[in-house]
Amino acid sequence: MKNNIEAFGENVFGLPVMEQRLSVPTFASLKKTIDSGAELDAGIADEVAEAMKEWAMEKGATHYTHWFQPLTGSTAEKHDSFIFPDFKGGVVTGFSGDELIQGEPDASSFPSGGLRATFEARGYTGWDPTSPAFIKYDGAGAATLCIPTVFCGYNGEALDKKTPLLRSMNVLSEQTVRLGKLFGIDCGDTMAKATLGSEQEYFLIDVDLYAARPDLQATGRTLFGKASSKHQQLDDHYFGAIKTRVAAFMADLDLELWKLGVPAKTRHNEVCPAQFELAPVFETLNISVDHNMITMEVLHTLAEKHGFACLLHEKPFAGVNGSGKHNNWSISGPDGKNWLKPGDNPHENAKFMTIIVALMKAVDTHADLLRSSVASAGNDHRLGANEAPPAIVSIFLGDQLTDIVEQIEAGGASSSKDGGSISLGVDLLPKLPRGNTDRNRTSPFAFVGNRFEFRAVGSNQSPAGANVVLNTIVAEAFDYISTKIEADVAEGKEFNAALQEVLAEIIKEHKRILFNGDGYTDEWLADAVGKGLPNLVTTPEALEMLNTQKAKDVFAKYNVLSSEELESRYNTYKETYETLIGIEANTAIDMVKTLIVPAAVTAITEYSAVPAVAGLAGEMSSLLEQTVSGVAALEAAEGPAAEIVAMNKLRESVDALEALIPADLWPLPTYTEMLQV
Ligand code: ADP
Ligand code: MG
Repeated sequence: MKNNIEAFGENVFGLPVMEQRLSVPTFASLKKTIDSGAELDAGIADEVAEAMKEWAMEKGATHYTHWFQPLTGSTAEKHDSFIFPDFKGGVVTGFSGDELIQGEPDASSFPSGGLRATFEARGYTGWDPTSPAFIKYDGAGAATLCIPTVFCGYNGEALDKKTPLLRSMNVLSEQTVRLGKLFGIDCGDTMAKATLGSEQEYFLIDVDLYAARPDLQATGRTLFGKASSKHQQLDDHYFGAIKTRVAAFMADLDLELWKLGVPAKTRHNEVCPAQFELAPVFETLNISVDHNMITMEVLHTLAEKHGFACLLHEKPFAGVNGSGKHNNWSISGPDGKNWLKPGDNPHENAKFMTIIVALMKAVDTHADLLRSSVASAGNDHRLGANEAPPAIVSIFLGDQLTDIVEQIEAGGASSSKDGGSISLGVDLLPKLPRGNTDRNRTSPFAFVGNRFEFRAVGSNQSPAGANVVLNTIVAEAFDYISTKIEADVAEGKEFNAALQEVLAEIIKEHKRILFNGDGYTDEWLADAVGKGLPNLVTTPEALEMLNTQKAKDVFAKYNVLSSEELESRYNTYKETYETLIGIEANTAIDMVKTLIVPAAVTAITEYSAVPAVAGLAGEMSSLLEQTVSGVAALEAAEGPAAEIVAMNKLRESVDALEALIPADLWPLPTYTEMLQV
């Protein structure tokens, strides 16, 4: 089979295509905007638009769309054709700079969380030139030019996930560059960049089975289903040989993603049967987020083509592994180096330790915000079990790095585990072994050698939210450290001494956030709660953290989200959560009444006629009674918390019925059938 490597990027209007198709000054101007965030010169827009249109039409496109990321968490597009009447009875094509730069979709149906009333529902999309335009082919093969955009209200409030992400990247860059200067790194206008590698887990099940499960279709997860006798207990799926049908899907998936410039790298079977993972090579954060959104879309479209349904829900099947999106995050400094990689000299190591300590401060101060950034109805089922981190946010550094942190706290004391001591800016760090990385998977926020991995992000979530928080809180910690050191140095203190002092102070205050052990144990739970770490188990509790003065202050101070914008997110996510639980409840009620009860009645009737199985008929009857009263209880339940309790109770009797009712009468595909692809 051909490897198709040459297809990489063929559907992306990236720098190489731009260079070929734009005039020299236009390309130079656009490149400057892309590289250094310089303001876009509107004068070049017409030429860029025309070149984009020509290129897109050669690829078969007839339409373009401003592609944006509303608060729904997915992507949105409205297609416009390139067509204009020529007023002679025919048509001509055109695409102007104005159309490229700004769009005005009728935005009244997107969630705004109260930021706009329907009568003033105008929303604007604005071109984000830092993210390349691309061609998307739909299932039927029709091509559309997708132009990544931000989405704002008429007075500029962010109505999307991308605007705050870009703002948070800017503030992180500013503070990183400032911190760098203290370490003698001055790269002029060059920005620092956050980097992201977003591992994506997903399930594939046969599309016919999917079509026979109203719960999967309406809610993304199975509301009922008895565990199969063999699922992941033997760990025989993880990294196992990939079955032909799935391999064909994965090959197609990689190719489609490569064409779109998504650097899909790793593919493998995950722990649960029917579960898989795709990991891309990391990229600049906003590009990586766009690419993850594209990946989720392509997963769905291609699954359909291959006779599968792709499940991105965090917990489609109870009792087995859920799906997450490990968020591998680091900072690439203005010098282009990874600042979370331990360096080769004492100076670089002092900088490295500064970033580690800043992260301790950031994560400990705002553990609640990190938790709220991954709050969703789906993720509530996943966190805390089956290889997903618990709801308590803590940091894993590994023993060696923890030891160094402790030495800094002690002011360079010589009582370290290895008998040595670390003097910042003077000593070399001991080599941190690669194997030092956390493999126990219960740490929400783990240092893995050259980056942090935030593992609480749900498979179905946009990575934007978590990274907005991460960038902002790290910027705040950098700001704190720089401010302190700048003041001390201005007063004549020696740099390394000032650094040592501020890091020791931060460590003292925030070391409770460090935890290298098993995050599932009751001891840790008690210990963490005792230390005052927030344990926000459910989405409603977690979302309340967006309402605190602390949250408002940090987002407003760094111009990432105004109080109004933050409140609109709180409102939107809360409403989404409540609506979703309501949909789950109604779906459960419908399924029981129209599918489960009739099957149970048939089985009971048949069995009642045979004395030998009268006992089983009796068992089924009593479970059916429980089921019927369970439905009544669910119907009477008001509000998400009560609905969840009632759904769980109802599920118990339904799953017990599934164990008794003859297979040919059971109206739903079983876990055993679905988890086999
Ligand atoms: P593992 O299964 O060990 O977590 P994977 O290879 O599945 O490893 O995923 C690791 C992810 O981390 C990849 O997406 C990789 O590109 C990403 N990564 C590596 N270095 C960095 C970095 N400096 N910044 C952000 N992400 C990174
Ligand atoms: Mg990982």
